[in-house]
Amino acid sequence: MRSVYLYLANMCRARWLQSFLFPKTAPLITGEGFRDYPHLTDHECTHCFSCMMICPAPEAIEVIQEGEKWHPVIYPGHCIRCGLCVEICPDYVLETGHVRKKTGRDNTFYQFTYHPVVDATRCMGCGNCSISCPVNKEIDPGLAHSGYTDSDEVIMRVIEGKARIINEAKCTGCKTCENGCPNGAITVARMLEAKQVPAAEQ
Ligand code: SF4
Ligand code: SF4
Ligand code: SF4
Repeated sequence: MRSVYLYLANMCRARWLQSFLFPKTAPLITGEGFRDYPHLTDHECTHCFSCMMICPAPEAIEVIQEGEKWHPVIYPGHCIRCGLCVEICPDYVLETGHVRKKTGRDNTFYQFTYHPVVDATRCMGCGNCSISCPVNKEIDPGLAHSGYTDSDEVIMRVIEGKARIINEAKCTGCKTCENGCPNGAITVARMLEAKQVPAAEQ
């Protein structure tokens, strides 16, 4: 009985009654550096697709073309607000929660490199990879019509019956060649590296 009395007495304390009847909740404010869904800046998208490649959330981002212009679209239902697309974009098209400011301050950045590799035991020298590669077609516009190139500027071409990679550094990692090869003989590895500009070079 005594414990019930103490309990009721405790509950009737003025301070407790005040906090019960007039509860105060924390103000609903969003911190300045909060990483919300990325938004577009006024910079122009060069449709490199790096943002789509780095995004860890399925179907969270898509780069689309409207008229002459390209731009990324974020799907909030899928985006986990990690900010990686903001960090990778080389053209500052996206921003969220000061990500750009912080990476600029720390001189850190992400960089993709691409490594197309031909399995010579599977390659039958049809040249489909070379013909379908959009970079190859830009370098040698005649390739699409003739199906053949002897340019040494292209990424890959058929030499002595096998596709050979001759300018790996020009690869944009689009993987069109992978899809174009009927034998699965070409694979393109996408390597992501986190880098920091050394203080001496800043
Ligand atoms: S913030 Fe992260 S999850 Fe959202 S679109 Fe960008 S990379 Fe994908
Ligand atoms: S990374 Fe930037 S420039 Fe590249 S496609 Fe995405 S938004 Fe455009
Ligand atoms: S990944 Fe794209 S750019 Fe690279 S070699 Fe294949 S088709 Fe060409």
